[in-house]
Amino acid sequence: EDVARAVAPPLPPLTFADVGGLDEVKRQVTRRIIQPFQKPSLFERFRRKAGGGILLYGPPGCGKTLLARATAGECKAQFFNVVISDVLDMYIGESERKLHALFEKARQSTPSVLFFDELEALAAKRQYSREASSGKLVSQFLTEMDGFAQTNSGVLVLGATNTPWAIDPAFRRPGRFDRTFFVPPPDAPARRDILQLALKGRPQEANLDLDFIVQRTQGFSGADLSHVVETASDLAIERSLDAGTESPLRDEDLKAALREVKPTVLEWLTTAR
Ligand code: ATP
Repeated sequence: EDVARAVAPPLPPLTFADVGGLDEVKRQVTRRIIQPFQKPSLFERFRRKAGGGILLYGPPGCGKTLLARATAGECKAQFFNVVISDVLDMYIGESERKLHALFEKARQSTPSVLFFDELEALAAKRQYSREASSGKLVSQFLTEMDGFAQTNSGVLVLGATNTPWAIDPAFRRPGRFDRTFFVPPPDAPARRDILQLALKGRPQEANLDLDFIVQRTQGFSGADLSHVVETASDLAIERSLDAGTESPLRDEDLKAALREVKPTVLEWLTTAR
């Protein structure tokens, strides 16, 4: 079906427990997004409007997409992950229709979360946009969002970007992406959380020295940390294949993996402007 093409296949629901660290963001999202979403009448009584969109920003691979999926899970809402580049790739006129269809689909499937990853691809200020995304598509998007208060109840719109400075301020007006949350690189306790989540369910020895890894992974994103665990798993698989019997992941596998995986957060900090 047409709409399904720009939406990734359905994934199993996640909750906040599946997202390592990010305690402060989770608290903010719960308080300011999930509760108004679940109890709109209470908020309306106090003349606090529910709805509008939120923008998650921060370095790549630190959990924006994960947090968006988990927010949907926490709301027991359907999650629609929109791949903006797929929408942009369509013929003139088709992109706008597709975008409208996506919003319609979300409105018909409430409660739902409509997630726009790499929002800058659509919402870039002129000086930042590589390919000029059509002004028509932008105005279609803003129209859909502005319709939010009237027709979008039960639809939560989330956007994510690594380059918040490139987002056109028109996208941040009231009723649009009017709240922004920073999704920071993981601190030491968050890195421990993420490593434990990544290790969960994999055959492993009991004596893994996670503190060692945690202390040496400043500047690693969540994705980098997952990559460390995946690389270590590959080493354990190789050893298992050689031995002809399953050999659990060892501390030395993690340490070897750590020598291979490079942190990516600093890179982002130096491109940020
Ligand atoms: P991008 O900006 O590149 O889209 P992102 O911030 O959306 O990145 P995610 O896609 O959420 O990052 O994370 C990529 C992968 O890294 C996740 O699928 C997960 O394996 C791991 N990861 C990142 N952050 C976390 C986290 N906070 N907790 C657990 N896993 C994480």
